[in-house]
Amino acid sequence: MRIVLLGPPGSGKGTQGVRLSETHNIPQISTGEMLRRAVADETVLGKKVQKIIQGGMLVPDDLIVSIIEERISNEDCREGFILDGFPRTTDQAHALERVLPESVDVTVYLNVPAEVVVKRLSGRMTCRECGAVFPRGDISLCPVCAGALYQREDDLKSTVEHRIRVYMKHTAPLVDFYRSRNKLAEIDGMGEPDDVFERVEAEISQVTSQ
Ligand code: AMP
Repeated sequence: MRIVLLGPPGSGKGTQGVRLSETHNIPQISTGEMLRRAVADETVLGKKVQKIIQGGMLVPDDLIVSIIEERISNEDCREGFILDGFPRTTDQAHALERVLPESVDVTVYLNVPAEVVVKRLSGRMTCRECGAVFPRGDISLCPVCAGALYQREDDLKSTVEHRIRVYMKHTAPLVDFYRSRNKLAEIDGMGEPDDVFERVEAEISQVTSQ
């Protein structure tokens, strides 16, 4: 099963991606996580993208497409994968169609209003080790893997608003892109992660029973 997770930053793609990955036993591929890891490891790629990520801008299409192309050709993607954060532009979506002529099975669009995602992003902490996110509170270690929690630089309020604008301009058009191909499952992304996951799974089981 090849799933694309679509939705604004903070709509829950990462959280739902982890659950989908565990339930369907296919890898979750988060381009944001891959890029952050490259920055932390100070690789050539990391040095190239560091400022772009910090500013909440998009990494060039050709760069991110080649990263994804390589990643999904790995053995662990044979039975499928979950794309979290890719595609993010119409050009990336076209590139994915070229790389994957048989197309994706479903695009899960997590619909959450902009004012809610701004609040979620500026109030969340991210695990440096596994990338899991939690509402800011008393804990400083990740309950999943005991990694250190930190606030992503691009989750600071000023950058968050910019990221939402970038999403509206470049990524929101993908909702119509996938709808016109009959590949869109629109999910109400409000509420508890467990409830959202139930909605996601209900949509996915419809796709698999077709
Ligand atoms: P995310 O973790 O998905 O919020 O991504 C964090 C940042 O990584 C984004 O704000 C972009 O700077 C960069 N990024 C992640 N995925 C992509 C993509 N598909 N295209 C361009 N830039 C990306």
